[in-house]
Amino acid sequence: MNILLATNNPHKAEELAAMLAGHDGVRVITLADLPVTLPEPIEDGDTLEANAYIKAREIFNATGIPTIADDTGLEVDALGGAPGVYSARYAGPDATYASNCARLLSDLASATGRAARFRTVICYTDSFRTLFAEGIVEGEITEEPHGDGGFGYDPLFRPEGSVRTFAEMPPDQKNAISHRGRAIAGIRETLAPYLEG
Ligand code: IMP
Repeated sequence: MNILLATNNPHKAEELAAMLAGHDGVRVITLADLPVTLPEPIEDGDTLEANAYIKAREIFNATGIPTIADDTGLEVDALGGAPGVYSARYAGPDATYASNCARLLSDLASATGRAARFRTVICYTDSFRTLFAEGIVEGEITEEPHGDGGFGYDPLFRPEGSVRTFAEMPPDQKNAISHRGRAIAGIRETLAPYLEG
């Protein structure tokens, strides 16, 4: 059985494929493996769940291949949960990973706490069912960037119990404890009875 990962982000495709691979009978493919380029679904939901569903459903409708999509947000307590569902465009419509990180540091400059969490929601959909799983990792936002691995806010996020940011960890170590790793473990478990049946 093929499962299609609905992402054009090569970092995420790599992480997701590495974590899903090895499940008996499942071959993970990505949008890059398709012979056509699909239009990007418009992520206009106001929750991570809504956006994950929009992406999975649109790509499944276009391809007929069982599809997994994820949506992730960084929730910072001192910012009332922002940037949350708006994490990708926090610094504006042309935001880059670097400008998003710069805005986060500047918004937190006078904050009293730096507690934060990454939350990922994964949606799987095919003709028979739509399933969701969530993964959360608690941590804090560092005063300055550390490390050059990973992507996005990784240089600023130090998970609870670690002295290193996600960007200072080898990919395996990040995947083992990350929001996305936990959400993938959840969706694997939820999907298992259907894949085996
Ligand atoms: P997406 O909607 O799942 O692509 O995630 C939204 C934004 O959150 C991305 O553009 C990244 O800036 C950030 N993000 C998602 N996953 C991670 C991660 O694992 N580490 C750091 N930042 C992430």
